[in-house]
Amino acid sequence: MSVTQAVLLAVVAAVLGGVVTVALGKMAQRRAHGADEADLTMIDVLDRVVREAPIGIAVVDKFHDVILFNPRAEELGLVRHRLIEDRAWAAATRVLETRKPVELDLCTKPSLGREPVAVRCTVRPLLDRDPRFVVLYAFDDSEHVRMEATRRDFVANISHELKTPVGAMALLAEALLESVDDPDTVRHFGERVQHEANRLGNMVTELIALSKLQGAEKLPDLEVVDVDTVVAEALDRTRLTAENASITISTDRPSGYEVCGDRTLLVTALTNLIENAIAYSPSGSPVTISRSLRDGKVAIAVTDRGIGIAKEDQERVFERFFRVDKARSRATGGTGLGLAIVKHVAANHHGEITLWSKPGTGSTFTLLIPVHVGEGEDDETDLHAEKAVGS
Ligand code: ADP
Repeated sequence: MSVTQAVLLAVVAAVLGGVVTVALGKMAQRRAHGADEADLTMIDVLDRVVREAPIGIAVVDKFHDVILFNPRAEELGLVRHRLIEDRAWAAATRVLETRKPVELDLCTKPSLGREPVAVRCTVRPLLDRDPRFVVLYAFDDSEHVRMEATRRDFVANISHELKTPVGAMALLAEALLESVDDPDTVRHFGERVQHEANRLGNMVTELIALSKLQGAEKLPDLEVVDVDTVVAEALDRTRLTAENASITISTDRPSGYEVCGDRTLLVTALTNLIENAIAYSPSGSPVTISRSLRDGKVAIAVTDRGIGIAKEDQERVFERFFRVDKARSRATGGTGLGLAIVKHVAANHHGEITLWSKPGTGSTFTLLIPVHVGEGEDDETDLHAEKAVGS
């Protein structure tokens, strides 16, 4: 028997018997006298099912009297002060007249300190042949509504983000066609088309990576990963960009730390952090990478002396497509997805990403991933003492 059937049976039994209150009273009496479970009647059982149901249930009669409801119905705003909610009563009246089920949304208004709650409500005649009673079931739909809103936002953002480079390329191609006789101008516009195409390609790659990360409940290729190899690979990938910006990247000595995870994803995350450190720092300024152990986690910190991030933006930079300065991000080929990827990589490794930053001083992004302790290495702190940042 499904939950709904059980609940319906409970309601039917309770209402037809006309003994809900009596039964409740009896049950309370029994509890008070410490009666054992063998004394439970069917009505007791059904009453319990209704009372503990994860959905709101209320039965209302044609005189607007609420003759039965459970605590969840009050929590979801279906019943207030023993009265049925106005819109729900309007629907119930319709059901009393037409004998046809009705669905409605009961969105409660956001109240102070509380999130808005979306409640879906189904109103049905209690019995096909008895026009006196209507039963209302209320479901908390907030999670679904929130997810839908996020999905809509995401699709709108993606469309906008993809449209921008495509629009730019169309204009640049037009300019190219108009300058076929001037090799310098052709080269100039050609390079800009290439830049936009690369950005578009990066964005699509990062979107695919992000959707895989978000969908993945478990990381597919778990292995013991050497942190120093991750740092070395990320440095390798960013060497050219750093050289072009005359930025020297210093690292501490190899640590020997190991984590359990996906090497490629960890390299991607660290590469994103280093690329940002370079992109948001003035030419010639230093970037530092350090490894240490903090509360059972390997901390890989990337520090720059760049433009920094204002306090109010520090949480938002991990959101998809958020940039403090859109123009600057676009100029550096940024997609606005780098830090969202880092955040998901950290979460998928049961780790976290932290940020310290001060405008005009610089930023430190720290990726924290639980340390892997090999067999026989029970005292990890002795094994991996904190190391100072060197060069
Ligand atoms: P983007 O592709 O725009 O760099 P990210 O997700 O990597 O996207 O970063 C989001 C935003 O956070 C950037 O646009 C930038 O405004 C800010 N940001 C990221 N890293 C740094 C940093 N090291 N210093 C200053 N600002 C940064």
